[in-house]
Order: sequence, then structure tokens, then C-alpha cells
Amino acid sequence: MTKSHNIEYDENCEIIVVGAGVSGMMLAKLLNDSGFKVLVLEQKTRVHIQPETFGTFTCAAVEHGLEGYIDHYFDTFTFYGPTTRASATERDKMCLVNYQNWVKDLELKNVSIRTDIHLIAAEKISEGLILKDQKKAYLCKMAVDCSGYSQIVAKLLGLETFSETGLSFAVELENCQFPRQREASFILNTRVANSGGWLYIFPDGKGQYGWADFYPESQSNIKDLRERTLRAMKLTGPHNAWFKNARITCSYGRFGPTGNIRHKVEDYFIALGDAGGCGTPVTLEGFRQAIDSAKFAFLAVSRAANYKKEALSAFLQLFHDKYGKYYRMHQWVKFIYLRWMDNRDIDRWIYNFSKLDNSDIFRLIMGELTIGLMLRTLDPVLVKNVFFNAINNMLPAFLQFRAPISPAKKESLNALS
Ligand SMILES: Cc1cc2nc3c(=O)[nH]c(=O)nc-3n(C[C@H](O)[C@H](O)[C@H](O)COP(=O)(O)OP(=O)(O)OC[C@H]3O[C@@H](n4cnc5c(N)ncnc54)[C@H](O)[C@@H]3O)c2cc1C
Repeated sequence: MTKSHNIEYDENCEIIVVGAGVSGMMLAKLLNDSGFKVLVLEQKTRVHIQPETFGTFTCAAVEHGLEGYIDHYFDTFTFYGPTTRASATERDKMCLVNYQNWVKDLELKNVSIRTDIHLIAAEKISEGLILKDQKKAYLCKMAVDCSGYSQIVAKLLGLETFSETGLSFAVELENCQFPRQREASFILNTRVANSGGWLYIFPDGKGQYGWADFYPESQSNIKDLRERTLRAMKLTGPHNAWFKNARITCSYGRFGPTGNIRHKVEDYFIALGDAGGCGTPVTLEGFRQAIDSAKFAFLAVSRAANYKKEALSAFLQLFHDKYGKYYRMHQWVKFIYLRWMDNRDIDRWIYNFSKLDNSDIFRLIMGELTIGLMLRTLDPVLVKNVFFNAINNMLPAFLQFRAPISPAKKESLNALS
């Protein structure tokens, strides 16, 4: 590799990981353990994973050596609709992992972490990459973009990045009156958000409640989604009764991808995790995908004879084999749910979930969406409703024969009060 003038070059750094979030820290750990010399560049002033804990699948936590950081196991999983609900019970299948604690405990002797780094340029050179901030330039044999929604390295390299983004907002709560403990759930209600919400019930009246907007036309912003989340806490049942005396201990919101995979592999470069656009709209399982992406990137890097695109492309195949094959169906489900289903249809849909057996419900939760599974969630009335909604939504306003399905807005939530 040729050294350029004025470039900070760490003789030992082979790979730069940009972003010390979920995928970045997992990748740094895997590379560290195999003896790679790694530099992590993070824009925050410290390494702080937010949220600090994630609802995920126990198998993923175990596979990635996180079982010691499981705060709780969930006993039940429930889908809540505007009035219906469908539950599956399978103890220990889902859990809450405290990833921030895992990160704190990491001993990474081969990894240097630099925080408060604001990259302004990236350049490919022969056999490597140069990344630059205001003060320095960093030279590496390859870089992995783990910067989440920022997609910073991909942008600086002038690569195509995803623009369809979603927004999530969550509050952590205490002093709630939950009817049961240790439940994970999704809440589907397009009056509140253009995707869905979730509630994790922890022991001792604590929980995490949030909503996600995955619909560009809603033109949402964090302030608006925050307001809608707080209103939903007061207005939408059955949760409002549980939150009557609740106190919010912290809150956070962030942009993320909505399920269009734009993983990028180029010479000397991979973009993964949220930076690779791998968030699923249906299942909110970004954590599992982020740590799996890190593992796949590690496998591709460690097996590659060189860091050229062809050698690194194994990463894409590994991801596709586990997740990618379901993504077309995810896109369809997301499209139909957001554009052609109103709350009445959602109620019917969730009622149909209750006819599924536990294993099918868990396939739904894990995003393993196949045509057969989706057909089992339908019934003739639902199909008819969705069909007419679709026709109606495609007609010009003066020909529409029923209220069009539009993105969630404050007014529609206000109408609940
Ligand atoms: C409120 C909320 C709740 C969620 N709850 C869950 C859950 O319970 N279960 C679940 O599976 N998923 C959940 N998710 C999704 C999950 O957080 C993401 O899918 C996951 O964090 C993606 O990991 P990542 O490493 O790709 O990106 P991130 O975790 O976002 O990490 C990106 C890192 O890059 C850094 N960075 C950004 N820009 C730059 C830059 N220019 N230069 C350097 N560094 C940069 C960031 O500071 C951050 O540290 C939730 C998301 C939100 C917003």
C-alpha cells in the first residue's frame, strides 16, 4: 500500500470499522478475536449503544455469545390490533439483551476506538481506502460502514445509498400496571403510526413502548412521532389503562432503513447493518440482523484472499441465504398493510393470526414470510376488503367510493379522543 503525505497511518491497522453501534462493535470483536488490527471511528463522544437493550430472539443471543447479557426472557408474544389480539406462548424464545453491558465488558486488545470523529471525505486508492476528518486522514486496507442510517462512508465514496427511511421513537417506563409480566408485543394500528408499535413488558412495572413510521408520505419527524406516541399512551387500549400512573425514565428516536436491502460490497468496502438498509418493516428485528450482518462480514473478510469486490461478495450470499429470500414478501406485506388496510382490516388480520399455531406465529415474528404462511393469515372478507381498498386508492378522488387509506396523522389519532 502506498503511503501519502500527511496521512495518519497506523502500521497495525488493517480494517477500519465506521460506527461503534450494534453491528460495528460485534464486527470489531470478531475481528479482534481473530487477530485483525482494527480501528473503530465513532462520531459520538463515547461508545454508547442506544437503546441499551434490545428485544431479540434467544437463539440469536446464544449464537453470538450474548446469553450472559440477557436481562429478561419473554414468556409470551402478542400482536395487538385496534381491538383484537393474538398471542403465542413459548417461554425463552425471545429475550431482552443488554448490549451496552456487553460492549462495556469487551476486552479488545487489537482494536483502537476513536470517538468524536466526523468524517468528511473518503477515497479509494490502490489496495485500500483513505478516510478523512477535519484533522487527519486514516489509511486502511478496507473499511466497513456500520454507521447506520448515516451511511457515511458509502455517501463519501459517492455510492448509491438508500433514501427510503423510517423513524422509530420509544420511551422507557416505570410504575406501569401490567396485567402480566415478561411479554413482548407488536401493536398494529395505522392511526398511530405508519408501521406499528411495540411494547416490552419487564418485571416490576417497567417496560419499553415505541412506535415506528415507515411510510415516506407521512412526512414524519421525531417531534411528531413523539407526540403521537405520547397521545397513543393515553388514548389507545388496552395499554392506556396500564400506563395511567407510568413515569417516563428516558426516550429516544432515530431514523433507520425500512427493509430495502442496499448492502454494498465494493473493492475494499462493505456497508452492513442499518447502513446496508437491512431493517425489516414487519418484525422490528434490526438487532439480530445487525449482529448477523457483522458475523457475515467477518466470515467474508476472514476467508477472502484479498479485499477486492469479488472476494468480499461472499458477504451478500451469506446474508441472502438467511434473510434475503424473505425480503420480496416483506416488501409486499409492508406495501399492502400501509396502503390497502384500514384498522378494521388490521383487526381481522390479527384475529386470523390467533388461528395460527405457535410455530407459524413465531415464523411471522421472525420475518420468515412465505406465500403459504401469508395465505393462512387471510380470509375471503379480508381479501375482498383489501381488494376494494386497493381499487379505491388508485382512483382519482372524485371517483372514490370509500375513505382512502392515508398515512397516520395527528388528526386521525385525535379523532380517537
Ligand atoms: C427506539 C428504537 C428501538 C429499537 N428497538 C429494537 C429492538 O427492541 N429490537 C431490535 O431488534 N431492533 C430494535 N431497533 C433497531 C436497532 O436499533 C437497529 O436495527 C440496530 O441498532 C442497527 O444496528 P447498526 O449497527 O446497523 O446501527 P446503529 O446501532 O444505529 O449504529 C450506528 C453507529 O454509527 C455511528 N455513526 C453514525 N454516523 C456516523 C458517522 N458519520 N461517523 C461515525 N460514526 C457514525 C452512530 O453514532 C452509532 O454508534 C430499535 C431502534 C430504535 C430507534
